[in-house]
Parts: sequence; C-alpha cells; structure tokens
Amino acid sequence: MRIDKSKCVNCGLCKPYCPVQAIEGDEVQVNLDKCVECNVCLRSHVCPTDAFVREKLEWPRVLRSIFSDPLGKHESTQDMGRGTEEVKTNDVTNLVAPGNVGMTVEIGRPGISGSFSDLEKVTTALAKIGVNFAPRTPVTALMSDQATGQLQQEILNERVLSAIVEFTVKEEQVGQVLEVLDKVKDEIDTVFSLAAFYAGGNEQKYPKAEFFSSRGYTVSPAAKINLGLGRP
Ligand code: SF4
Ligand code: SF4
Repeated sequence: MRIDKSKCVNCGLCKPYCPVQAIEGDEVQVNLDKCVECNVCLRSHVCPTDAFVREKLEWPRVLRSIFSDPLGKHESTQDMGRGTEEVKTNDVTNLVAPGNVGMTVEIGRPGISGSFSDLEKVTTALAKIGVNFAPRTPVTALMSDQATGQLQQEILNERVLSAIVEFTVKEEQVGQVLEVLDKVKDEIDTVFSLAAFYAGGNEQKYPKAEFFSSRGYTVSPAAKINLGLGRP
C-alpha cells in the first residue's frame, strides 16, 4: 500500500485502522516492512482525500495480500482468506480418522502479524517428528520440501496477518507436538494458537480438555476454528 503524498494532508485519521501499525509518522507514510497489504486502510474509506494507492503486487510480496486480505484468493486451494475450509468438512473427507488427531498451528494475529520465517521454524520443527502436513492447504503448497517442512526461500521475509499450518498425527504423538511447540515458541517473534480435532461420536464431552490445560493451554472446547485439512 502506498500513500500519494500529493493528496495526503497528514491528518492521521487512517492510523487506527491499520491492524499492524504500519501507518507511521507526522509526515504520514506506510512502513512497507510492516504492511501486510490487507487493504483495510483503503476499504475503510477513512481517508478524506483518497490518498491510498493500491499497487499491483509481484511475487512474493503478493502473498501478504492473499493471506491478509479476506477477499484474497489462494491459487493452491481457490479459497479466500487464510485459505482453509473448516473442520466440518471432515464428515466428507474423513482425513481425521478415529485414532488420528487433526491439528493446526495458527501463526500471527491482527495486531502483531507473523513472518514466513517464523512459520518455517514451526514447520521444520514439526517435520522432524513426522507429522503429516495436510494436502491442498496454502502453507503446504508453499513448502519446497514437505519432508523437512522447509518453505520456498524467497518468501521467508514476507509478513502476513496470520497463516495456518495444518497436519494430522497419531493420537499418541500429540504430546510430542506440544513439546515441539513449547521449544519453538521461544524462537519465534510472534504468537500462535493451537487447535486439535479428535474424530469421535456425538456426545458433548471433551475428555481431552484436561490434557491440554494441564500443559498450560487455555482450552476452548468446540471453538470456532479454521482447522481445514483439505476439502473434497
Ligand atoms: S494495507 Fe493493511 S497493513 Fe498496509 S497500511 Fe493499509 S491497513 Fe496497514
Ligand atoms: S487519512 Fe488520508 S490524508 Fe489523512 S493521514 Fe491518512 S492518508 Fe493522509
């Protein structure tokens, strides 16, 4: 995003609208390192002089917009936003069979964002314990090597509001996943949230909640999550 300085009157009205505080200074400018190209400043129509200019983004910067603008569409999945279907598709896909657990790690949030460099620290750590990265998800599509979890090197400096790593593990591996995340949390410069989906019956019980809360997680049973794991 760019501000046309021939139009901008430095009123600062746009600053609170930016979810990553990328609009800065008394001589108002967009900090392009921080900007995740979400287009909120433009779509809000807050600017009294129409000074925001949305420029055509080239690869790999275009990833910022695809992941951060809810209207962006992922080429790999043809889905918008963060590019994943919700877990309710499991009734059709059965990707998370009984005995397996579907998990997601969402890196970054509005207000802080996250880089693909941080994301790669998570994916490479998870790959070492042999998780199965979900096919047909935006993050898996950006890997250069699914066996190691490495991402395409040219994207590592890009930042997004958030991105979701999706994978399945055997139920007995969940503790290992938590150990990996406990280590990697000190190596990344952002936040993450974890979702776990256990395939089961219809009973309204969440016997695994204690497992996660005893390891320091705040548990929200049946939370609204973006755990997709592909779609039919
Ligand atoms: S496009 Fe989004 S991140 Fe960039 S300046 Fe505008 S509101 Fe901020
Ligand atoms: S709202 Fe428009 S005129 Fe005011 S500081 Fe932002 S870009 Fe400049």
